Parts: sequence; C-alpha cells; structure tokens
Amino acid sequence: MNKQTFFEKYDYILKNCTKPSRYIGGEFLSANKDFASAEVTMALAFPDKYEIGISNFGHKILYKIINDRANFMADRIYAPEIDYLENFEKSGLPFCTLEAKVPLVEFDFVGFALQYELSYTTLLKMLELAGIPLLSADREENHPIILSGGPCAYNPLPISDFIDAFLIGDGEDSTLEIMDLYKEMKSQGATRAEIIKAISDIEGVYVPAHHREVTKRIARLEYHTAPTKSPIPHFESVHDRATVEIRRGCSRLCRFCQSAHTNLPIRERKKEDVISLVKDYVKNTGYSEYSLLSLSSNDHTQIEDIIFELNDYFKNTDVSVSLPSQRADKFSLRLANLMQEVRKSAVTIAPEAGTQRLRDIIKKNLTTEQILNATVASVEAGWKKIKYYLMIGLPYETYDDIAGIAGLFADVRRTCMERGLKVPQITCSISIFVPKPFTPFAYAPQNSLEQIAEKIKFLKEKCASMRNVKLNFHHSKLSQVEAFLTRGDKRLNNFIYDLYKSGSYLDSWDENFDYEKYVEIARNNNLDIELEATKEFSPENELPWEFINLNYDKNYFKNEYQKAKDLADAT
Ligand code: SF4
Repeated sequence: MNKQTFFEKYDYILKNCTKPSRYIGGEFLSANKDFASAEVTMALAFPDKYEIGISNFGHKILYKIINDRANFMADRIYAPEIDYLENFEKSGLPFCTLEAKVPLVEFDFVGFALQYELSYTTLLKMLELAGIPLLSADREENHPIILSGGPCAYNPLPISDFIDAFLIGDGEDSTLEIMDLYKEMKSQGATRAEIIKAISDIEGVYVPAHHREVTKRIARLEYHTAPTKSPIPHFESVHDRATVEIRRGCSRLCRFCQSAHTNLPIRERKKEDVISLVKDYVKNTGYSEYSLLSLSSNDHTQIEDIIFELNDYFKNTDVSVSLPSQRADKFSLRLANLMQEVRKSAVTIAPEAGTQRLRDIIKKNLTTEQILNATVASVEAGWKKIKYYLMIGLPYETYDDIAGIAGLFADVRRTCMERGLKVPQITCSISIFVPKPFTPFAYAPQNSLEQIAEKIKFLKEKCASMRNVKLNFHHSKLSQVEAFLTRGDKRLNNFIYDLYKSGSYLDSWDENFDYEKYVEIARNNNLDIELEATKEFSPENELPWEFINLNYDKNYFKNEYQKAKDLADAT
C-alpha cells in the first residue's frame, strides 16, 4: 500500500487515537526497503507499545543485520494502543507493518521479541489482528513462519503451541541462517512444513513440532553487527539515545539473575571499536546522549579510558554518557568524575539486599563498605540523587534483612554527614523476587502475596522517618503472575489462550492488568497461580525447560541452590 492510500484509508483511525505517529512509520533513519523485490522478508514484531519496542536493543541489531543484506528486508510492527484498536477492528483494514505498509500475513517470517511473560496474550492478539491462525498446527502454506526469541524463549513451553520456532540464545547468526535456508529451500519448491523441519536442525533453534534437546546459540560481538543508527521516533521514547553494547554477559552470576546465567560467555568489545561506534551513532542520529550497554557496564576492562576519550571528543558539545548498570565495587571516584564532567545523570547502585548475610546467600558479592564508598564517591563528585535497586522476598530472607535495607540508608546518611557531605536524595526501587529458569533460585518458592504485603508494610514503617528516602515497590500481583508463567510448562498454553480470549491485552501495564481474571481463568484450567508461584521445585526432579542446554555442568544449578541453603542454615 502506498503512503497516500494508507493515509486515506486509515484517516479516521489515526485521527481518533492518541499519538498517531506510533502507527505511521516514516521515522528518520528507517530502512524503508522494498517489500516486493526482497527475496526474504521478516516483520520484527514487538508485543508491547511502540515506545518500548522502538527502544529495544535486540530489535535494533536484527533490523540492522537483516536490512544490511541486499536481498533481505526487515520491517517493524508494534502492539497498537487500545484506543487505536477499537476503530481499527471495526474498519476491517489489514494489520500492516510500519514502513512498507504491507499486511503482516504477507511476510515470510514474523519474529516476535519476547521480553516479558505478560506480553504473551498481546502476541496472540497481534496474530489475530493479522489474520494468522494462533495455533502453529492450524497454519497453512501461505502463512508466515512465526519465530520468537528473547529472554522468555529460555522456557518456551508455556507458548509452544503458538510459535513455529524459538531462537534460543543470541539471535544474530541463527536469524540469518534461517532466512538463507528459507531462500534456498523456497527456490527448490520446498513446502512450509519442510522448511520448518529443516530450521529445527539449525543450532540454537527449538521447533516444538520437532521436539529435541537444543543448545543455545552464542554469537560473537562483531563490529559489523553493531547498530550505528536506528529509526528515530517522532516523539519521545523510553531510550532516546545512541546505544552501543560494550560487553555481553556477566561473570558474577548472582543466584537470582537470569541474564547473567543465560548470556555467558563474556564477550567484550575493544576500546577503539566502542569509541568508533559511539562517534558514528551520535553523528548519524544527532542524539545528545550515548549509552554504554552491558549487564554491568563498569566491568568493562577499559571503561574509564573509553569515557575519558569520549569526553574529550564531545567536550564542546552537549553530548553526555549514561551507564545503564554499574557495580558498586567497581565504582571509582575517577569514573564518577568522568561521568560528572558531561552531565549529572542518575547514579544507580544495586545492592539487591540490605544485609551482608543475604547478599552472601544470593551471591551478590558486595560489602556494605563498597556500597557506602560508591555512594560517597558519587556525592563527592556532585550527584544529589542516588537510586538503589533492592529486592524483597528473596530466598531465606528474614525480617532482619528487611530492616537492613533501612539500616543501609541510615548508614548512607551517617557516612555522608561524618564526611561533611550533603545527604543525597535516595530513591529506592524495590522489586519482588521472581524465581527464573536457568538460575540457581529457579527451584525457590516465591513469597505469597500476604507475606509480601507484610514485608512491604514493615519496610515502610522502618523508613517512615527518613525524609530523604523514597520507596517505590514493584506490583506484587504482577510479580506473582510472572513467577507462575516463567516456570510454567505446556499446561499453560490453554490458560494463555483462554486469557487472550477473555480480552487480556498489554497486561504488563498496571491499568490493563486484572489479577482476579488471571486467578479465575487459571482455576478454570485446574491451575492455581499462587500455589505454583510459591512452590519449591525439588532439585531432584528435572525442570520443564531442561531440554535446553546452556552448557552448564548438569549439577551446577542444584549445587548453587544447596550452597545458598547451607549459607542460610549457618547464619
Ligand atoms: S552483577 Fe548484575 S548482571 Fe551480574 S549477575 Fe549480578 S545482578 Fe546479574
């Protein structure tokens, strides 16, 4: 559909929704490749709002590497807002991609990024809008092959009835291999089913219809796969910045952390490459902020030199740096000063737990002294606001550990005052522990809603007199549903289907999330959300996702869980 036709046909819908620019495409730096002449086409689909999807770094990589190939084409599509959906569904118009304005159903592949379990029903709704059968088994020759990757793919079972093939691990190489294979087989007249069967033999690809053990795919951090430009949204998105991935993986392996356990081995980009990529990205996009992306940015062996050189390069501009995640034990005064030179961005420190005892149990190897030193270094360098990430409901947590959170803030206050520094404003983001597959704490029970409520109340009381401390708690019911979904098995497919049928959509947004509906639909499927979330899985039994091989020693996760137990017993 050409642009003019699109605007004529979708005129009423666009004029009657908020932020129509979410749906019109045409963003600066869009690839805008020709659909008709491409040999293989892929719609990169994001089952969440445009603002979230357009900032997703994994999507940016795939968008680049696919469009870099002359005969391939990647377009984008996001979940429409509810106010768009109402008129769109009445219109009978096709669900089209942003750039080529081609109906989703006409693509060779639709690749869904799965960042969060609560987007499963949104994925199904997007398939419905496109007129693509929801069940893999019902799809026919002319339907796209539905792919999915991202963190949720490490346990594909809850949505295995709906996805044709999951990409496990890094998707750069497997995506191109799948598209190459498709091109070759299609030219030889292969059927859709034959192609899907052949795809199941590619390393790192799990095809539910051809169930087998799958080893995750590991990609190299290549220079040519790093984006140096990406479509710039017409309005503010969640990350309006030039993002350069400097390091993949984190060797610290905190016992709750799925990203660290699923992203090994560590791959680090050379200083020269990081600097060159940042310069190019900023030049191409005009962004005034660049982000050095890693699970733990200051673990990069040359981080200070990188920022020093980039500060010098950008010294007469308003370009500033942000480090998305920093380890307190690596936070030096030099680094604080280097970041301060450009702009006072927020400093975030993630102790995760309030006491040394619990930090040892979760293997967050951070001492109170290191946390205080990082705080003081930041305040000395001029930061007035510090953000802390903490969790409640961790395995073996006691009320002393929760009181320890308030104790930590009291220590921050006392230490700053002793050194003659102004006490910083503390914002504390507190999430609820969710046991995740491929972590030692995958076996652990989550706290019940009642336990969490009591702990939140207790912590609020402990911090009530601290005027410089603001506590923000994550939604406990959302966290419970997340625990239920992330450790689920094949039984959840029917549950997710029923949930979608009941109208569940964009559920990770508080205003749409209806916990009671989840409970009721689970009950109708003979499932109990709280029971499943608060269940301890026996280390003696095989876990549902263990057909996926992450190259760990067979007993690694159980042994680590046992070590945490032993530490808890000893204290
Ligand atoms: S330091 Fe951060 S990224 Fe690394 S394992 Fe711990 S929580 Fe995960």
